[in-house]
Amino acid sequence: MNIDDFKTIVEIANLDFKVTNHNKKIAEQNKRVEEIKTQRNEKEQLLSHSTEKLKESQGELKSLEAKIFEVEKKLSQGEDRLTIVTSEKQLNATQTEINTGKILKESLEGQALELMEKIDFYQDENSTSKEFLDGSVSTLEEIENEVKDQVAKETKEIENLNKRIEALLETCPPLLKTPFLASRKKFKDDFSVAWAEDGVCNRCQYAVSKNDQQNINRAINVEVCMSCERILIPKSAVS
Ligand SMILES: [Zn+2]
Repeated sequence: MNIDDFKTIVEIANLDFKVTNHNKKIAEQNKRVEEIKTQRNEKEQLLSHSTEKLKESQGELKSLEAKIFEVEKKLSQGEDRLTIVTSEKQLNATQTEINTGKILKESLEGQALELMEKIDFYQDENSTSKEFLDGSVSTLEEIENEVKDQVAKETKEIENLNKRIEALLETCPPLLKTPFLASRKKFKDDFSVAWAEDGVCNRCQYAVSKNDQQNINRAINVEVCMSCERILIPKSAVS
């Protein structure tokens, strides 16, 4: 084992770091598509809810209008009867009937007005949702194409990096390769090598004995940090 072997694993750790960054970029790209899909799903749900509410309100309004029509008919019949009443008793009864009918009509008309406002609201909501859904079809397609290209580019880069990593691993002496692979498995996304400096592991600050530090820096021994379990390399391998 010599310093160049350690330099090789530092290079691999650096390449791993690049792979991680490319994977992060792929995740970011995929997130762009997911975000717009989520927005579209939300709008679809809103549209289905407002469509249902719209139908419901329109149905209610229709039956209210029928009721109002009936009340108006009775009112008009009452008005007609007023002209032919023959006694004060009949007059009073008819007048009371008309007054009650008028109050009922007013209340029904108030309810109808409220329903019409509701209908307006749901119609607006429907148009907004439909507009968004129609408009976002092409946006989604554009983004999906962009993402597909970017992901393909990143994937190609990762493939190339992995080829280089494989080739470099081939040149690693087994005594170094085995502990490095263990360290790499644990820290693939967070730099799998560390070095001893001022009596501590530079990544986790755990103590490294003077003797170990000397052996590590002379590239004699392969040591692993007792705390974070990263492989410890001579500082001079990092340049
Ligand atoms: Zn450590």
